[in-house]
Amino acid sequence: MDIIELLVQKNILSAEKAKEVQDEVKKSSKRAEEVVLGEKLIDEELLFSLKSEALGIPLKTPDVGEVSLKVLELVPEDSAKYYHMVPLFHAGNTLEIGMVYPEDLNAQEALKFLARQGSFSYKAFLIRLSTFENLMKQYRSLKEEMKEALRELEKEIEAEGVQIREGKGVGLQRLVQEAPVTKMVAVILRTAVEGNASDIHIEPAKENVRVRFRFLGELHSSLVLPLRVQQAIVARIKILSSLRIDEMRIPQDGRFSAPVEGRMIDFRVSTFPTALGEKVAIRVLDPATGLKGLDELGLEGANLAKVKAAAQRPYGLILATGPTGSGKTTTLYAILQLLNREGLNIVSLEDPIEYLVAGVNQSQVRPEIGYDFASGLRQILRQDPNIIMVGEVRDKETASLVIHAALTGHIVLSTLHTNNAQGVIPRLVDMGIDTYLIPSTLSVAMSQRLVRRLCEECKEKVVAQKPMQQLIEQELALASLQVKKQAEGLRGKGKEFFVYKARGCKKCASSGYSGRIAIFEVLSMTPELSEIVLNKVSENAIAKEAKRQGMASMRQDGILKALDGLTTLEEIVRVSDEP
Ligand SMILES: [Zn+2]
Repeated sequence: MDIIELLVQKNILSAEKAKEVQDEVKKSSKRAEEVVLGEKLIDEELLFSLKSEALGIPLKTPDVGEVSLKVLELVPEDSAKYYHMVPLFHAGNTLEIGMVYPEDLNAQEALKFLARQGSFSYKAFLIRLSTFENLMKQYRSLKEEMKEALRELEKEIEAEGVQIREGKGVGLQRLVQEAPVTKMVAVILRTAVEGNASDIHIEPAKENVRVRFRFLGELHSSLVLPLRVQQAIVARIKILSSLRIDEMRIPQDGRFSAPVEGRMIDFRVSTFPTALGEKVAIRVLDPATGLKGLDELGLEGANLAKVKAAAQRPYGLILATGPTGSGKTTTLYAILQLLNREGLNIVSLEDPIEYLVAGVNQSQVRPEIGYDFASGLRQILRQDPNIIMVGEVRDKETASLVIHAALTGHIVLSTLHTNNAQGVIPRLVDMGIDTYLIPSTLSVAMSQRLVRRLCEECKEKVVAQKPMQQLIEQELALASLQVKKQAEGLRGKGKEFFVYKARGCKKCASSGYSGRIAIFEVLSMTPELSEIVLNKVSENAIAKEAKRQGMASMRQDGILKALDGLTTLEEIVRVSDEP
């Protein structure tokens, strides 16, 4: 196939223009594709879809973050660059190779040779030139910059004449301020952010230092560094996060923000002493992935409406409950963002601060020096706030301060430890809050659990098996009218319910799931609920009222989400069985 002829056939190039392109190709060392794209004679997307059609080779357009560094390493960089081919995905023993010129016989030969050497089989795909260039950039950015920084660093270590393994004295102090170490750490951080890694691990081994990145839940060993740079890198990270660099025997925690790719990214650092030296784990807190809207979190429909109504009131308490790791803080952040607008003073007390939110005055409590939620809250109230977020209501004092703050015209967001939304009111009473204060202060009580979200690419719709159908019917029998109505709309012709199965594909690293979503229950303060609270607080009466106001329990919300194909029924059963 000749690409120029093809373009003439398709009336994209005139015969005259085609001749010019051919001449240019002969004169330069460029390929026809590079010339037509360089002269903007055709759009890249069109060019490669035509080529894919003509060759009968499927086109792939992976994002940079989708190709792991581990896979990229399977073809040597020189070959990749020369033949314009990069590995995309490795499954079992088959390597998927993206090629810009799959018709090139030399490239085919080179690939066969590599496959024999590495004893893998392969499948070729067409990729666009821009895809290739982006992937090569990812290759280079890590490898070359790291190598170069490493060389510079080694030179300086020699010049310094210090044994930085000892980790003492001015040598190390000075070294970590120097460009090479700074640069190496910057490259590590950037690699993590670019590849959407959630964590970075820097681990000393016997002979070297391993840098691993967690992509899509899995750790990839992407970098091996000589042992002699370990202390300098660890020290640099400690300085960034204001930790003590001369203290290596006890674990330390800290955090820092750094600009990466033009955005401010937060990093939470934890060090841990091991027999071979200090290990560092860094959690990447990218606001672009961590700060989400309420609908993205799985709060939708009636639940979303209840929370929005509470947020629009001039004052009141919004309480989120759920075990540690149930995502309640993320939900509060999302509500904060909903409320966040100029002209409001928003103050938060947190432990720890997870994400930095623009426009919010966030403060980290330090119970060890007497700055806890209660004392911080007293201080905050003197700061003329409109909206207050308190990490957690743990004790009577904080509970009473939170109620007081809501009563005096503030919106207060906080979390509480109860199993479900209905448990919030009895819990507040347990914490010594007078029942008559609750109806006028509590706006909304919500509870949540996290479940894995099904991968959109590979989930499979199936008729629910008999035990599953029964489980759904049983739960629906207990549900409110509103929930029943919603579920009815999802039944098949024969009254059957459909669920979705997790399959697994490249997009989701064969897990069948991608990211997480929360299941919720949201209880609003209504005149009916006020009545119950003022007369006699009983869980039974609250449960009845919850059903009357159409609340879906977490389990029911989960079943609706499973019927909707957002998650699997197995996930719902798993989290509902948790205490
Ligand atoms: Zn998938």
